Amino acid sequence: ESPLLEVKNLHTHFFTKAGVVKAVDGVNFDIKPGETLGIVGESGSGKSITAMSILGLVPSPPGKIVDGEILFKGENLVHKSEKQMRKIRGKEISMVFQDPMTSLNPVFTVEKQMIETILAHESISKNQARNRALELLNLVGIPDPKNRLKNYPHEFSGGMRQRVMIAMALSCNPSVLIADEPTTALDVTIQAQILELFKKMQQEMDMAVIMITHDLGVVTEVCDRVMVMYAGKPVEYTETKKLFDHGKHPYTLGLMNSIPKITPEKIKLEAIEGFPPNLSDLPKGCSFAPRCKHAMDSCLTIDPNFKEVEDDHFVRCLLYEETEKAVTP
Ligand code: SF4
Ligand code: MG
Repeated sequence: ESPLLEVKNLHTHFFTKAGVVKAVDGVNFDIKPGETLGIVGESGSGKSITAMSILGLVPSPPGKIVDGEILFKGENLVHKSEKQMRKIRGKEISMVFQDPMTSLNPVFTVEKQMIETILAHESISKNQARNRALELLNLVGIPDPKNRLKNYPHEFSGGMRQRVMIAMALSCNPSVLIADEPTTALDVTIQAQILELFKKMQQEMDMAVIMITHDLGVVTEVCDRVMVMYAGKPVEYTETKKLFDHGKHPYTLGLMNSIPKITPEKIKLEAIEGFPPNLSDLPKGCSFAPRCKHAMDSCLTIDPNFKEVEDDHFVRCLLYEETEKAVTP
């Protein structure tokens, strides 16, 4: 099956007074229908900017895609106009955010918002649009959808509002859904329900999903593949199972150590010490070096390549490059 979305060598930079912020600096991945890709990293690692680049939502200026291609069904989205992107956003590539209140309009009922979204992209009757809205609310597990359609966003609980948000995102039957920290604001039980819902949706609709999260636990639940990002660059990219069985990058391993284990009493957050680097003034060599327990002298001068260290497993770390390469400046 050919990929639905291919991101090739994407570079999205911000031109600020303080300098050029290389928010996304060489991202590559592709995703097929029905697949879920997790993009994982701390805030500021470039995961949300990657998503915004795909959707044509990078604020410009100061932001700009300075290099690379975003091929959706073979067409490059990078040079599309805002008008062309508006036809793709929502209809072909849709997005769910952490906080539903940022994308639901508080002054309109759910019915009005859903119907308008559908009618903006499709020429069907208002009645057909209302039926679709009902089906979708039903699909995402909103009880009594007929009555709930009449409600305003604030009349739903946090978890239900997130479901409404997902129903909205699905209303035009998109082929790609990008979810940016969709469960971060929710409590653990609701979070599990929403993740279940994502899995179900995806199977039923054969949609590709990009799940953006800082939480590797979310990745194990729903993702087929994972890309770990650090300081604007992918540092590890492989199947979820491979990452968990034998993840290799020191940053990935640090993230794994910070997954809370089993019971709440036993939660031990061994967070990675230190902070991500300033993206307008990256250290020479490996960006992770200042925080890396395994840093060697060569790490301070050589920027590691993103290398396929075993079949379909890419890592950016000098520990996995040939020794000669690692010692030659
Ligand atoms: Fe750590 Fe060096 Fe690997 Fe960077 S290249 S992650 S500093 S060991
Ligand atoms: Mg973010």
